[in-house]
Amino acid sequence: MSARIIDGKAFSATVREAVARDVTTLKANHGITPGLAVVIVGEDPASQVYVRNKVKQTAECGMNGWHFELPADTSEETLLAKVAELNADPAVNGILVQLPLPKHINEAAVIEAIAPEKDVDGFHVVNSGLLATGGRGMVPCTPLGCLLMLQDTLGDLSGKKAIVVGRSNIVGKPMAQLLLDANCTVTIAHSRTRDLADEVRAADIVVAAVGRPEMVKGDWIKDGATVIDVGINRVPGAEGKTRLVGDVEFAAAAERAGAITPVPGGVGPMTIACLLKNTVTATCRQNNIDLAAL
Ligand code: NDP
Repeated sequence: MSARIIDGKAFSATVREAVARDVTTLKANHGITPGLAVVIVGEDPASQVYVRNKVKQTAECGMNGWHFELPADTSEETLLAKVAELNADPAVNGILVQLPLPKHINEAAVIEAIAPEKDVDGFHVVNSGLLATGGRGMVPCTPLGCLLMLQDTLGDLSGKKAIVVGRSNIVGKPMAQLLLDANCTVTIAHSRTRDLADEVRAADIVVAAVGRPEMVKGDWIKDGATVIDVGINRVPGAEGKTRLVGDVEFAAAAERAGAITPVPGGVGPMTIACLLKNTVTATCRQNNIDLAAL
């Protein structure tokens, strides 16, 4: 194996330490404690694990955290009323409604109901619009985490050829936008892309966000490329157990790549760290505090 392994767990710890320092300064110099409210509807076990982690790490950074668990049969009207209450609460700087929502609730309507300045997931159409037009919005956490890891690994990304495999609103599209803003030449691939292998072979940076186990093959990776694997796929493992793999054929890709994120322990931990970072960013903007001067 020749690639450097990008340790998302270690890097996310440094991001969370920086967040905790900012929180301490906000409390000491401005008397403000950032607050994040997380709302979950229903009992999806994977979502509950994510939410528990989010709440725990919010407290570890010194922020206020609120966790609202609503039953699976909660009506859209009740959920919208909860969002409106949190929008109006000045102690709440960030609001996250855990997705997916039960089928009877219109996800888009709920996301659009969150005040854009409190939308720490960055999914509101105002925030996607700001990202697309170079404005100052909230940036979705997973792509933001990927960008930070790429900049930490490569420094200036200017002029690099990047491919993003996947074009979802929450990962692929904002990732491509961030890479474009960082002056990469960006290709966005999807299920209709022809000759995906050749497209990937041309790239200095590969971000895979497909949701298909090990779909990006090791021999597609250009020698020395940097590979960010967003995928989280549970597959059958040894002795009847399951294991997690990414969207990239890790062992073979690591033979060729210059640096690569593992699954688990790569992008995943960065997503929560960036949620906390976004909550501090939102708090500063809501209080007209210059984040850079903290
Ligand atoms: P979506 O299902 O919303 O999007 C998947 C994308 O992959 C689509 O754009 C689709 O193309 C494309 N795709 C599907 N099949 C192919 C193919 N054969 N070749 C090329 N492209 C293909 O997924 P998400 O973006 O929400 O998530 C992607 C992965 O990232 C998942 O494994 C998810 O679990 C993981 N994830 C991880 C996070 C983390 O914190 N680490 C956070 C969020 C997601 P088309 O548009 O044409 O259908």
